[in-house]
Amino acid sequence: MRIDKLLASMGYGSRKEVKRILKKGQVQVDGKTVKDGKIHVEPEQQDVRIMGEKVIYRKHIYLMMNKPAGVISATEDPTETCVTDLLSEAELIFQPFPVGRLDKDTEGLLLLTNDGQLAHRLLSPKKNVDKTYYARVDGVVTDQDVQAFKKGIILNDGYVCKPAELKIIRQGNQSEVYVTITEGKYHQIKRMFQAVEKTVMYLKRIQMGKLELDERLRPGEYRELTDDEMSRLG
Ligand code: URA
Repeated sequence: MRIDKLLASMGYGSRKEVKRILKKGQVQVDGKTVKDGKIHVEPEQQDVRIMGEKVIYRKHIYLMMNKPAGVISATEDPTETCVTDLLSEAELIFQPFPVGRLDKDTEGLLLLTNDGQLAHRLLSPKKNVDKTYYARVDGVVTDQDVQAFKKGIILNDGYVCKPAELKIIRQGNQSEVYVTITEGKYHQIKRMFQAVEKTVMYLKRIQMGKLELDERLRPGEYRELTDDEMSRLG
């Protein structure tokens, strides 16, 4: 990796600022001063220092976002606001992408990372990672619905969903529920409720595997995962 890119990605300033630091002779690679930003280094093998201070290299970034409604789970779009548009340059330099998709109007837990292997692990249908959602539903959700979800809802295109857990928090003309699914079909939760003749009015993901949404994050806010959260991702 180019030394200027490496230092900028480690938060030592913009490429321009990093160029200035290099020019001043403040950067050493394996004990030798390097002034040219184009020089390539192996950050995991070589000793890179700024004014004697060792640069600790990190390859991956792991962010938890409380996705707001109105933005799409993508990294680029000609017309829509993407979740990555909410990130700052310090994170974008790592080129994170969302792990899976939430609908534009869905809020809640979204993991953004540049770790393709982790993303694959979390999304692989073979791994059956649980995803829990809070939903407000138009209509009275009944124990019959709970049983139907447990058995496997049949969607309008004939697809038979895997057993899902439906927990009623509040039953009324507008019900509040938690739903846990192990799949990630397009509009799955909304379509599951459609199949029992109800409409999802509000949807928020609150958990993915053992990772829970930090409720202190307001919609649109994000932070890096803690070590404990990282270990829970497995
Ligand atoms: N199910 C949906 O219907 N929408 C989402 O965003 C996620 C799950």
